[in-house]
Order: sequence, then structure tokens, then C-alpha cells
Amino acid sequence: MHAVNTIGTTVLGYPRIGPARELKRALEAYWAGTTTEEELQTTARRLREQTWTTLRDQGLDSIPSSTFSFYDQVLDTTALFGALPERFTRLGLSPLDTYFAAARGVPDAPALEMTKWFDTNYHYLVPELGPNSRFALTGTTPIDEVREARALGITPRPVLVGPVTFLLLAKATEPGFSPLELLDELLPAYAELLSELADEGVEWVQLDEPAFAADRATSEFNALTRAYHWLAKEKHRPKLLVAGYFGGLGRALGVLARSPIEALALDLVTDASFVDKAAAEGALRDKEVLAGIVDGRNIWRTDPDVALARAAQLKATAAHVSVSTSCSLLHVPYDVEAETDFNPRVKNWLAFAQQKVDEVVLLGRALNGENVDLNPARAAVADRASAEELNDAGVRARVAALQPEDTVRIPYLERAAAQQKSLNLPPLPTTTIGSFPQTSEVRRARAAHRTGKLDDNAYRTAMRTEIDRVVRLQEDLGLDVLVHGEPERNDMVQYFAEQLTGFATTDFGWVQSYGSRCVRPPILFGDVSRPNPMTVGWTQYAQSRTDRPVKGMLTGPVTILAWSFVRDDQPLTDTARQVALAVRDEVADLEAAGIRVVQVDEPALRELLPLHAADREAYFDWAVPAFRLATSGAAATTQIHTHMCYSEFGDVLPAIDALDADVTSIEAARSKMEVLADLNDAGFARGVGPGVYDIHSPRVPDQTELTSLVRTALSAVPAERLWINPDCGLKTRGYAEVEPALRHLVGAARELRAEP
Ligand code: GLN
Ligand code: ZN
Repeated sequence: MHAVNTIGTTVLGYPRIGPARELKRALEAYWAGTTTEEELQTTARRLREQTWTTLRDQGLDSIPSSTFSFYDQVLDTTALFGALPERFTRLGLSPLDTYFAAARGVPDAPALEMTKWFDTNYHYLVPELGPNSRFALTGTTPIDEVREARALGITPRPVLVGPVTFLLLAKATEPGFSPLELLDELLPAYAELLSELADEGVEWVQLDEPAFAADRATSEFNALTRAYHWLAKEKHRPKLLVAGYFGGLGRALGVLARSPIEALALDLVTDASFVDKAAAEGALRDKEVLAGIVDGRNIWRTDPDVALARAAQLKATAAHVSVSTSCSLLHVPYDVEAETDFNPRVKNWLAFAQQKVDEVVLLGRALNGENVDLNPARAAVADRASAEELNDAGVRARVAALQPEDTVRIPYLERAAAQQKSLNLPPLPTTTIGSFPQTSEVRRARAAHRTGKLDDNAYRTAMRTEIDRVVRLQEDLGLDVLVHGEPERNDMVQYFAEQLTGFATTDFGWVQSYGSRCVRPPILFGDVSRPNPMTVGWTQYAQSRTDRPVKGMLTGPVTILAWSFVRDDQPLTDTARQVALAVRDEVADLEAAGIRVVQVDEPALRELLPLHAADREAYFDWAVPAFRLATSGAAATTQIHTHMCYSEFGDVLPAIDALDADVTSIEAARSKMEVLADLNDAGFARGVGPGVYDIHSPRVPDQTELTSLVRTALSAVPAERLWINPDCGLKTRGYAEVEPALRHLVGAARELRAEP
């Protein structure tokens, strides 16, 4: 048993979409108007109860609540404290529909902005706060959940976004305003909630402050100090656990150690050196520390000896040490046992959320000195470490033989001249980012092929028919560089992972990306190679149907790693090089098949950017060469494109330049082309295609609007280097929007070309 009044073993959060994506289906049915709010609430309650009872039955000492969300935990916080913008609250909708309006937008009230949750692939909804924002505890969800759990005999530990992180994640509605100025407004609302939770018999509350895993200013550390002194001074409150994750806490560790909170959760996985710093922090003496030794971000089984050593190091300095996950388990799938088609040997190396809970319980007992059997875990870890099938001597020899010149092409200006001779493109060439709308026919054909209902020949015919249609449409529209439309791809990473060695793909390994959207990250477990061409057949077919150049479409090594669960037994550099070589081979085969333009997408380049500035150089040191290795085998005449999206490129602009792609298409519509000036400042002087319209919105831009945007772009970039394209791929849109939008796009290019 764990000591009375301590938290004991726990997890910082848990998946909520449902083991069979029940929440996704319930949400989408509700949005489509085919079910009632009551039905949706019933599904939600069932999922919460299922989570709590599972965690209890697995033996955790402390069960988290409020890890459920209908859309996003940051939006929950905004709604809970009455801080939704007026454009939603004045709609006169029910609380739930007001919440969904903020998440998804309605005709006259565009949704809150969505952005990545730190360096993960989860997206949160950005609060909008201004000098006049006020907070009041208007929601009851954390309290309702406590009552639900107590009805099952469980007193849970509510998990909330902490006040300082909440404000730091917000966007100011007025220039020059810092949402952190609202701290004193916000704290009373948190205090009121804490007091109400105490009334419900809650013993512990978890406040998440992951913002402090990134570099922060002194004023922000001061806000952290102020917040927790203020909240802790209330007499009538549960005990406070503050969780910092996604990295070491830096200066925030000392701040929190000296504040009068009762417990601290530390991520001991992301940054091993952080353990020493935490251990050296004498002020932890009066606190319980949750040692986050089970990785919440990856899917490998925990090495029990390494993990326990880290936790044990803290025992000498903290009042009590308990075992936890490094962060919420939101970022991993539910249950590895659901994967019945998996290679059993690989499966034994893995732990998804459910298995990680078992690990926490086991390691917690071991840390308490109980006699538990760690040998199965040790054996699994040792088996992975020694597995022959991970190693491919050919791949290793190739990586070892790489030379600096393998990442260098001849100078850009010489390439550009050779490419222009070969491609003969007009000024302001037009193109798209790759995918065309995925019609239900296309999706049905892919699904039928996967389940064997459609044979290979019939499938090929279906895809070719689609490619024909897309090529004809592009010719008709008058685009200059065509694409095949990507109808055969379920996902831009999984499609490649399925064809590369060293990867396993899951059937049920869904992870929430945003709202009801989930992704299934492939598992990169061994050396990577490319047994056969992966895209050549489709691209070559498309090229055979037109005289215009067709652009081959590949996913780059950084993005493949970012959107997979990656092996942790070798440096990322080595893994990235292997993936890059596979992409390089594909580029060579596309060239050999007569393809003259190849796009290697790197939309995740920004996402992997380390939170601490000090770690960024090391990141660029592997990421940039990996892209260059993938692309620089191309002949001078082959035009290499790349594509970036997800705004805010500031810190990666020099890296974008260093990729040395001939043409870079980049999201720019929402920022009104501002990125072009930033690229200029970073010394970028190659082809660039700022997205001229936002594909995330169903709105069709008219030609005048596009012409004026391109004119703005032309003030930053000369016509010889400027491309015209949408912001991103078109696969989530319908033809009713895409066709007119592209017609206007080509129209704008022609209009400007005709000008003297
Ligand atoms: N080529 C991909 C597409 O068009 C790029 C997607 C992305 O950037 N996320 O869909
Ligand atoms: Zn994109």
C-alpha cells in the first residue's frame, strides 16, 4: 500500500477517443445532426467510466479525471472560466454547441485558431485574450466528473491546464498586450474551482504547466511563482500537484520546488540530465515527486533498471517518490493487444497506454521495495537490443560510406538555368501541393482493395481512372506543373511506411490529432530500406497522359520520423539517414522513369523543432542533411520542390534555406504573404510558392483577391522565382470548391503575366 495522503502510482493523462474510436463516431454523428446531445453525453460518460474502472482495476493508486474532452483540454479550460470570445457566446446556442462553434466555426464566427501542442502532433485551440477579458468559473465539468467517479467508488484527481501555461498559450487580441497580464484576474477563478473540488472531497488536483519545458523569460518565472503562492495560500483546497513535461524544467524546477505546492511531476524520460538537477534540488524535501519514468510519447517497453535508477536517485531528496508517466498517455494508442496481425516478437517490445499503466504499477511496487518480477520486462528489452532482424548490413554499410558530397548539388543558379531549359515554364508558374479531393469512390476503392474485395487489377484501373480525371482537370484548368493527385494514399507517412522495411503499421493504433481526427503513426523498429519503388508506377502513368511535367510526390525523412513512433536504440541521425537513402532511391527511380520535377514534403520540419533554443542546432544538424541526402542525388535538370505548412516559421527559416530545394511551397495565405519578407531576411533566394489561398476553409477566393495577393508577393520576390499554388494539399476539400479556386488561381497568374 502507498503511504496515506500521497498520490502514489499514477498516469498524468489517458487517451479519450475510445479504444474503438467511439468518441470520434459519436461526435461526428452529433455534428451531422443524426444523434442527440443526450446520446453523445451517454457515450462520453461510458468512456470516462471505462477509463476510470480500467485504471483502478490495473492497480493505480491515483486515478486522473478531466482527462476526457469533447474536443480539446485547452478549449475546455477557456470554456470553464467563461473566456470564450463573444462571437460564439452571442450565438444563443447551448453550452455544448457554443463550445463546438468555437472549435469548428460557424458561418459568421470563424473557429478559434488551432496550433500544435508543444512538439507533439496534437493540436489545441488557441484562447483569444485581450485587456478586457474577464474570467469566472462558469463551467461545472470537473465537478461533474468527480461526482461521476465517486458514484463508482473512486475519488479521482482532476487534471487541469495550469493558469500560467493557459495564459502563455493564449493569443493576444491586441498588439502589445500580453495575456500573462491577466494572471491576477484568472487566479480567483482557479481558486474558486479548487475550493469547490475540496467540497467534493477531492484530495489532489493536478495542474499542468508544460509551457515551462520551453525557454521562458524572467517575468514568466515570476508569474509561476506568484500563481502557486497565491493558489496555495487558500486554506480550503485540495493538495496541489504541478506537472511539468515534454522536457526538463530548467529554472522552473527551482521556482516550483520553493513554492508551497505539495507535489511535483517531473518528466525523467525526455531529458536524462534533468534527473541530476532535480536530485540536487534540496527544496524538494517537503514534496512528493512523481517520477515520470514511463515514456508517454513513445511505444517501447520501459527498461525497468534504467527507469528505477532514475526514480531512486530522487528518493534521497524528496519527501516521497512515486512512479508516473513522463506526460499524459494521450499521445500513444490504447492497447497493443488489439494488434492481432503483428509480428509477435515485435509486439513483445511494445507498450501502448494500457501496457504502460501496468508498467507504472509494477515499477511503483519495485520502487517501494516490494518483491516483483521484473524479468519479463528485462527479457523483452534485451530481446529488442539483440534482435538480428533490426540490423541490415547493407543499409549500415551504405550509411557508413556516406560522404559530404552526397548532400551537395551544383550551385542553385546553374541548376535553375538547366531546369528552365528542360521545363520551359512561364513566369509565375502554377502548381498544386499534391493531393486532390479524396472522393468517396476513391476511399471505397482503397478500402475494398485492402480487404481483398477488389483485386489488384481492378484497383489499378480504379486509381488510373482517377488519375486520368485529375490530369485532364489540371490541363483544362491550365496548370503548368501537374500532379497525379495521390488517390492511392491513405496518409502521407503510412503510405511509405507500408512499403519500407523496418516499419510496422497498426490496425487500431489511433492517436488523437485534433477533435475527432486521429492518426495511426507507424512504428519504426528496425533498419529501413526500400525493396521496391513506391510511387513510380502511379507517377509514370500520370506523366504518360500529358505533355506537361508531372511532379513526383514524396514525403521527406524528417516528416516520416516526426509522424512515426521511432526506435530509441540509436541516434535519430542514423535513423534519418536510412530513411533519407530510401527516399533518395525513389527520387532516382522517378528520374529514370522520365519525371523531371520531384516534391519532397517536409511539413513537420517546424514541429520537431526542440522547445529549448540550446537544442536547436543539434536538431538542424541531422534534419537538414537528411533532407539534402534524400534530394541531392538528383540531376541538375531535375527540379526539387519541398513543401512546408503550419505557419510560424520564424525559427526554421535558416533551415528552410539550408534545405537547398529549388522550389519551396509554403503556407502563407493566412499571414498575407508575410513569410516572404522573412525568407528574404534569412537570405533565401530560390524558387518560392507562397500559398495564395487557405485550403483549410471551404471559402473560394475570387480572382481579384488572388491577383492582389500575388502582387503583394511580387513586391518581395521577382517573377522568375515566384510560383503560384494553394497553401497545402487539397484532399480534404471537395471539387465544388477546388475547381473554381484553381480556376481563379490560374486566372490570376495569366492576368499578371500579361502585364507589361
Ligand atoms: N503532398 C501532400 C498533400 O498534398 C502534402 C500534405 C501536407 O503538407 N500535410 O496532401
Ligand atoms: Zn501542407
